[in-house]
Amino acid sequence: MITFSSIDGTPVYYWRSNRGNTTPRNWQCTQAFYDKLVLWVRDLRSLSSAAGYGSVTYLVSAGFYVNKPGEHGAGTAMDLDYVRWSGGQVSAPLDGHHASGTQSTRRRYLAVDAVCRRRFRYVLDGWYNSAHADHIHADFGGLPTICVKGSSSDAKFVQAMCNNFMNSGLAVDGVWGSLTQSAFNTAKSRLGVTGDPHTSSSVWMGMLSGVAADGFANRAF
Ligand SMILES: [Zn+2]
Repeated sequence: MITFSSIDGTPVYYWRSNRGNTTPRNWQCTQAFYDKLVLWVRDLRSLSSAAGYGSVTYLVSAGFYVNKPGEHGAGTAMDLDYVRWSGGQVSAPLDGHHASGTQSTRRRYLAVDAVCRRRFRYVLDGWYNSAHADHIHADFGGLPTICVKGSSSDAKFVQAMCNNFMNSGLAVDGVWGSLTQSAFNTAKSRLGVTGDPHTSSSVWMGMLSGVAADGFANRAF
């Protein structure tokens, strides 16, 4: 286990006991998980800066290593509460931005969610269940990153993504039925995805980059 207070130079704060607190905090995770966090934050920077957000000023987390069973106990999980950019933009899972009444806010949340899904499986978000209404959980389980139709986490993400970028009107129920399949095929086509995101990690990662780019830019597809 290693100790860190920033990821690749970007500070990670803790707001659960004191919102707005910018005191450096020591977090722990495994070296392998930290290495993946570095790739993740670099994805986050590049995909958001392309939309004019500036740099990622800071991140806020509810925890990485936590003394409990499972991925957190293994030091291979992150709970993401908040992202702030130098351009003033924020994405706040902490404030339930997946359920915001503002479409651009929901799309930005989906962009952050998509960036997490490029590097981690499982990713559990506000659509997954009420326990994740105030953070995005990302861990090392279930790798590599492919889109699994039988995973309710993946299916709910796809359904929410289709609804927010294409007005698909899908039930976000985590069940991959014919309507979800049809919407997903349309999304793939509009994002110019060739190949199979269900079997190829590189294809799925590329599709997620497309979702993130449109999400940060608040652009339908
Ligand atoms: Zn978690």
